[in-house]
Amino acid sequence: MEKLLVLTYVDESGAALTRASLESVAAGVEMARALGASLAIGVVGAQGAAAAQQLGGVNARVLAVAGEDFAQARYASDAAACEALVRAAEATLVFAPASSRFARVMPGVAYRLGGFVDTHITSVAKGEGLEASRWFYRQRVEAVVRRETRPWFLLLEAGTHEAWAASGSAPEVETIAVSLPALRTNVSGIRAPKQDEQTIRPDAKILLVAGAGWTKKQADGQVHAAEAETLILGFLKAADASLGSSKSLVDQSGENQAVLKFMTHMNQIGQTGATPRHPKGLSTCCHGEEPHVVGWRFINERRAISLDPNCGWARGKADVLYVADAFKVMAKVNALLAEK
Ligand SMILES: Cc1cc2nc3c(=O)[nH]c(=O)nc-3n(C[C@H](O)[C@H](O)[C@H](O)COP(=O)(O)OP(=O)(O)OC[C@H]3O[C@@H](n4cnc5c(N)ncnc54)[C@H](O)[C@@H]3O)c2cc1C
Repeated sequence: MEKLLVLTYVDESGAALTRASLESVAAGVEMARALGASLAIGVVGAQGAAAAQQLGGVNARVLAVAGEDFAQARYASDAAACEALVRAAEATLVFAPASSRFARVMPGVAYRLGGFVDTHITSVAKGEGLEASRWFYRQRVEAVVRRETRPWFLLLEAGTHEAWAASGSAPEVETIAVSLPALRTNVSGIRAPKQDEQTIRPDAKILLVAGAGWTKKQADGQVHAAEAETLILGFLKAADASLGSSKSLVDQSGENQAVLKFMTHMNQIGQTGATPRHPKGLSTCCHGEEPHVVGWRFINERRAISLDPNCGWARGKADVLYVADAFKVMAKVNALLAEK
């Protein structure tokens, strides 16, 4: 019989499991049932027991590695914690969220245990045993992977499963002892932009994409980059949206053209950019060419605003295309959002 372990960790508040962890739990519950496997959940954090409240109603053995050493993301302590949890659960299958914290330790943990790790898993299913799906070649080829090697570690992409919603009483928690190596790294603080300065928000309900049109000469023969910045940032703030870009727009900074100062290559969506997951997407001043639109693969509802009625969006790539001036439309949208 397979023994499935879901590895989770506590977020920066110190009291709650991350959303991606809870998504892995939900995937684990479903697959343990489908495979007839036993289920265990491992929690890493300063106070694993407190976070276990969120696992209410889960029919699983819950193991926790606890103590101040596990409050922060650090390779040595996280790898030791995960290794100890896998050994304690005698796991043959391990699900974990593909977050930056776990993605960097899991290959090392798999190596220590003589196992195998697969990353970027977007779905799991029962076929001939466990089958995991992931995309290759910039999301153009989908593969279904089966492996004989155990333990088999799967890093599950965030946003691909519903999060586990607690119902019922919290499970009992067994604390697992870990022998730590010498710890040389200490996180003394985090320097990050304020939340509303952060333009890439993976959990946002809507993605706003800006194309090169925002910095092109408009009907009056002038470029309106400053106005474009105000409109885009105004929408991001009012709608709590994430910001994407076409390649043409982010490349302009190297060409001494008018640029949007907050835009970097990290925002680029497409074949050579990112493939984010959001329920809705609104493209503005972008032509909707195939190398860009391939990055919209996981955006469920797509709308676009372009002056060009023959642009790529009009050719079947968007659910709704507004043939209109994005400067005017977004000013109106922002005004409506402000009224709310
Ligand atoms: C190998 C390869 C990989 C690539 N990878 C990517 C990738 O990952 N991501 C990517 O984005 N591209 C990629 N590209 C480039 C891609 O093919 C396009 O060149 C690019 O997406 C075009 O960007 P754009 O639509 O912003 O600019 P443009 O083609 O210049 O289009 C600007 C649009 O803005 C509209 N517009 C202007 N003013 C307004 C206004 N006031 N209101 C409304 N609309 C307005 C215009 O009508 C026009 O449709 C790749 C290309 C190649 C060859």
